[in-house]
Amino acid sequence: MHQIAFIDLKKQYEKIQSDIESAIHKVLAHGQYIFGPEVKAFEEALKSYTQAPEVISCSNGTDALKLLLMAKGVKKGDAVLVPTFTFAATAEVVALLQATPVFVDICPNTYNMDLLSVEKAIHQAKSLGLNLKGMIAVDLFGLPANYTALKEIASANGLWVISDAAQSFGSSINDQKMGTLAEMTTTSFFPAKPLGGYGDGGAIFTSDLDLADYLRAIRNHGSAKSRYDHEYIGLNGRLDSIQAAILLEKLKLFPEELTARQAIANQYEKALAGIVKTPFIPKGYQSAWALYTVQCDSDQRAHVIKNLENNHIPYNIYYRKPVHLQPAYEAFPRAEKKLTQAESLTEKVLSIPMHPYLTEEDLAHIVAQFN
Ligand SMILES: *Cc1c(COP(=O)(O)O)cnc(C)c1O
Repeated sequence: MHQIAFIDLKKQYEKIQSDIESAIHKVLAHGQYIFGPEVKAFEEALKSYTQAPEVISCSNGTDALKLLLMAKGVKKGDAVLVPTFTFAATAEVVALLQATPVFVDICPNTYNMDLLSVEKAIHQAKSLGLNLKGMIAVDLFGLPANYTALKEIASANGLWVISDAAQSFGSSINDQKMGTLAEMTTTSFFPAKPLGGYGDGGAIFTSDLDLADYLRAIRNHGSAKSRYDHEYIGLNGRLDSIQAAILLEKLKLFPEELTARQAIANQYEKALAGIVKTPFIPKGYQSAWALYTVQCDSDQRAHVIKNLENNHIPYNIYYRKPVHLQPAYEAFPRAEKKLTQAESLTEKVLSIPMHPYLTEEDLAHIVAQFN
């Protein structure tokens, strides 16, 4: 039995090795390592894949969020709602800009922000005298958040919505792709994400043309017209040409990889439903299947983990601790004193291998550990 990978980047590389290498060599030959033609070509490819009106590539998924918050003028005294069951970066960018993240609990079926908890967090932010500006919704494990409902709550309260789609590149709701589900969306091309590069990368998607121009300027030290003029305070938030060249090749393979991920999710569902709580996908939603996460009761989880370890099958627990209980974030406000769902899910969740190159034999071996 070969070693099963949690996310197999090696098999993918073997499949497209010559295309990747010639793409990299093209960049080495022309030498435009920054803002080479591959960067523009990749942005165009992302536009046609998602149908988003504007795409701005950038250095990583965290900077994508940071650039958007900068563009929205988020500052000290402002507050932004964030789910607590996410990677820390979602809240980190808010705090980094001296604003206050307000933590929201999640729905235990979708792992995305709970609507009632959003309402409570809005109330909480206002009662603390904070200037609530907007919310960052996360599409956890690849499943889009309920944007219809979130946008309704947001507009009733004069808030904007940013979609943190770092884990959900390629997902959709009723065939409408991520990148177009909210007015502003960010994603990440960190190697382990659904569309991963060979290093860091990210992108912002928006329907706001003025915002897009501003983002292009601040991603490159605030230079809107020429590199000698700095109209705004920005940062170095560019995507490298080599990374863009690699991602362009990987994007070609992506649709068939997404189909393969869905087929694996279907097989997991068939084998594991009734044994553990399998992912719930609302009607019309397409997950990007960044991770395949099940819920066990805690004795069961310990038992399955022991089996997986004995058989050298990799697994992960996303997340071991919600962000509002992390030392750096404990002091920030939350919708309620206890965010019950997120706190109890840490004891139940278990993520098992998910990538397009799992074989029938791999799957049989993995699901056998649940019996
Ligand atoms: C990975 C991730 C990020 C950060 O992306 P990087 O490219 O690693 O900076 C932000 N939000 C979520 C939900 C993520 O999973």
